Amino acid sequence: MTLTPEQALEQAALAGIHCLRIPTPFAVGRVNCYLLEDEPLTLIDTGPNSGKALDELQSQLDQRGHSIDDLELLIITHQHIDHLGLAEIVVQRSGAEVAALGAATERLANFDQDAEAEDRFAVELMLRNGIPEEVTVALRSVSRSFRGWGSRVEVTQPLADGQALPFRDRTLRAIHRPGHSPSDTVFWDEQRRILIAADHLIAHISSNPLISRPLDGSSKRPQALVTYIESMLETRAMPAEIVLSGHGEPIVDHVALIDDRIAKHERRKEKIYELIAEQPRSGFDIAQAIWGNVAVTQAFLTLSEVIGHADLLVNEGRVREANDDGITRYTLSD
Ligand SMILES: [Zn+2]
Repeated sequence: MTLTPEQALEQAALAGIHCLRIPTPFAVGRVNCYLLEDEPLTLIDTGPNSGKALDELQSQLDQRGHSIDDLELLIITHQHIDHLGLAEIVVQRSGAEVAALGAATERLANFDQDAEAEDRFAVELMLRNGIPEEVTVALRSVSRSFRGWGSRVEVTQPLADGQALPFRDRTLRAIHRPGHSPSDTVFWDEQRRILIAADHLIAHISSNPLISRPLDGSSKRPQALVTYIESMLETRAMPAEIVLSGHGEPIVDHVALIDDRIAKHERRKEKIYELIAEQPRSGFDIAQAIWGNVAVTQAFLTLSEVIGHADLLVNEGRVREANDDGITRYTLSD
């Protein structure tokens, strides 16, 4: 029997997992953080670094008879600022331990340098894929203006992929599911069949597989969508009953959702193939053909989408990348 999303939230609450909806200044809206009433008392993600988010976090913890000071463990699901911006403040007030994917600890500890390096990587990628320089300059200043909502995070409990986290009433297994970001980590309560998935799966929007620098420091451009689809297929095989997301409502049929997302990527891939079959095009050309002006205002997001699907076509041997004048253009394979 499939639960409704409301029933799923109730069931999670009965298991001591409470959804705290924290406001963000971003288009995505509120971020879901989770309070785990167990030992240690745990918060999963914090919301962005703003007074408003801090007020809400405090008052939603109050409603459950807790305060930020009481928190003993903070778990960070991935590197995005809407999920971790209050981490430093929460740790200062509570002295909580911080658990996150071990491979991401260096990046999380060096937030400012990392954000700068991430921006440089994005600009280079955009220029190489035909996005005009003035667009990259504008986007870079937008990205800088967002940075204040982030925070550095000192991870005290680096997690290995598959590592079990013991609590008084449960065990959560940390599982690396990269794709939406390189550090996406989901937390699996096998006994209750509850998966805390953050942005790995979101019911009402498809998680953008944003292209981001690899965690291992290598300079190779990652195939974010290819990785994301592999991650989704691994999650599909899990017997989860409830998937708790980083935004929106819980997912009660993750298999159907994943099948739907993969079918959508398949259709978009074929559409991009047709555009390339008409004539060789850069990533930016393709993004403009699909999204018009949104390819300019959301240049990095739409470019990540295009490159992700083009990677699938390249891996299938149907399309290849040609580099003439410093710009990558996709063309049909001979
Ligand atoms: Zn995210």
